[in-house]
Amino acid sequence: MAQRGTPDPEFLKTRIRHVPDFPKPGILFYDITTLLRDPAGFTSAIDQLAQPFAGAGIDLVVGIESRGFILGGPVADRLGAGFCPIRKPGKLPAKSIRESFALEYGTDAIEIHEDAISAGQRVLILDDVLATGGTARAAVSLVRQLGGQLHALAFLIELDFLKGRDKLPGERVVSVLHY
Ligand code: AMP
Repeated sequence: MAQRGTPDPEFLKTRIRHVPDFPKPGILFYDITTLLRDPAGFTSAIDQLAQPFAGAGIDLVVGIESRGFILGGPVADRLGAGFCPIRKPGKLPAKSIRESFALEYGTDAIEIHEDAISAGQRVLILDDVLATGGTARAAVSLVRQLGGQLHALAFLIELDFLKGRDKLPGERVVSVLHY
């Protein structure tokens, strides 16, 4: 079994691969598959994502497709919380609500089951990367529409220069790594 992770953001940064020009020219993609395959790196990432919320009474971790599932499941388990997915349109089997948001060109949307959150539940939204913040802002809207009490948003990586945090005024935003 792997040792408990090293609580060191610089250690995590050494495990993340940077892929230039993916998925399109000019984008530097932060690839966490190289972190996930490393047992000490994976454990450390989950430790550092969960630690700020230990004892916060989180009822539900809401993870955003798809890397938010990989990280959000173990974080929920660590916090003694449930897990709920936010997915791309058309993927969830039961009745869902949708929120659309603007991209550089066009729009995108995400969905959540309409019975996924009970009114007043304390929710932590979780994803791998906070970039422009459009996805996270739509996720906040979905959680609030269902009556969830949003405690915070957590990210493994925040791209500070894209100012995604500015799209989340008044929210608690906690990121493990900053670029
Ligand atoms: P945004 O709505 O711009 O904040 O984008 C957030 C979503 O896009 C997250 O689910 C990320 O997984 C993904 N994403 C955006 N930019 C990057 C990047 N440079 N590297 C890896 N994933 C990214």
